[in-house]
Amino acid sequence: MTQSSAPDDKLMSDTLLVREYLANLPDKTELASSERDQYRHAIKKLLKEKNAVLVAHYYTDPELQSLAEETGGIVADSLEMARFGRDCNAQVLVVAGVRFMGETASILSPEKTVLMPTVEATCSLDIACPIEEFAPFCDQHSDRTVVVYANTSAAVKARADWVVTSSIALDVIEHLKAKGEKILWAPDRHLGHYIQEKTGADMLLWNAACIVHEEFKAKGLFDMKTLYPDAKILAHPESPASVLSMADVIGSTSQLIKAACDLPDQTFIVATDQGIFYKMQQLAPEKTFIIAPTAGKDATCRSCASCPWMGMNSLQAMYESLRDGSNEVRVEAELAKKAMIPLQRMLDFSAQHKLKVQGKA
Ligand code: SF4
Repeated sequence: MTQSSAPDDKLMSDTLLVREYLANLPDKTELASSERDQYRHAIKKLLKEKNAVLVAHYYTDPELQSLAEETGGIVADSLEMARFGRDCNAQVLVVAGVRFMGETASILSPEKTVLMPTVEATCSLDIACPIEEFAPFCDQHSDRTVVVYANTSAAVKARADWVVTSSIALDVIEHLKAKGEKILWAPDRHLGHYIQEKTGADMLLWNAACIVHEEFKAKGLFDMKTLYPDAKILAHPESPASVLSMADVIGSTSQLIKAACDLPDQTFIVATDQGIFYKMQQLAPEKTFIIAPTAGKDATCRSCASCPWMGMNSLQAMYESLRDGSNEVRVEAELAKKAMIPLQRMLDFSAQHKLKVQGKA
């Protein structure tokens, strides 16, 4: 049974909140190629001097992704970013992503310094699930196991029994269902709905959405498929159910990249942030990737199929953060200890089910 946690007026107020955040974002400055080269050179030097490593998400600017790869860092999904940060020898982690990723890095590696190019980069899912509302909601449903998506604050994680990423969510819910547990899921309702459909688990869903994935439209996708009849559709499960119903592969960022490489098809329509094209084109240069259509200019997202907060990670901001040691993210020790419990549960589960998780397209 799927249940919905909040009426549409809550969703409306969250959307207004997100619009307000977006309206206040600074405009992105385009750098000349000579300036880019200077920043890249300076960042490489600082990374060495400070024993620092760059940990970048697939949705960040390709420029940052390539820099991470060239300097011994990593480009990955949020689960792999967290693991890499914990296991590497560097003393400083420079996390190019959004705030919850920096917090997760700090929780997993309290002895390391975590810097971010920008601490203002957040996520519509995080914004729409404040602990002040979430904690009482959990208290009202104390018979349910609380499973939260990684895109949440440290305080929300600390209130949860499990933290999951999109690459592992389905496996964890299947596991909990087999144990007869009822689930309280937060915050992404599309991903929650998708998992509920796949597993048949009893899930009570928090009512929030990713502003980027929510803008992919089934009608536009249908029209695009008419233009490219041989293309396979790859979709992230944060997309609406109508879009997912047309997808050939549904999966996390890592799973979509794997599918783009493994499938024999030549053309793919991709419903996720277009930052992912950097890695897809790198691994499958002979294939064609087309971004799935969105609602266009009037949509909630300022630049559709491109997360505005991920876009705040620039070369300039990264350089300044490394140079000055600014934008440090540190989760207070007591809170970190509590948030570590559900995070560790996910990492242990992932290690035990490694083959299954990695083998999924
Ligand atoms: S793409 Fe969506 S889920 Fe990812 S950080 Fe941006 S708003 Fe959050």
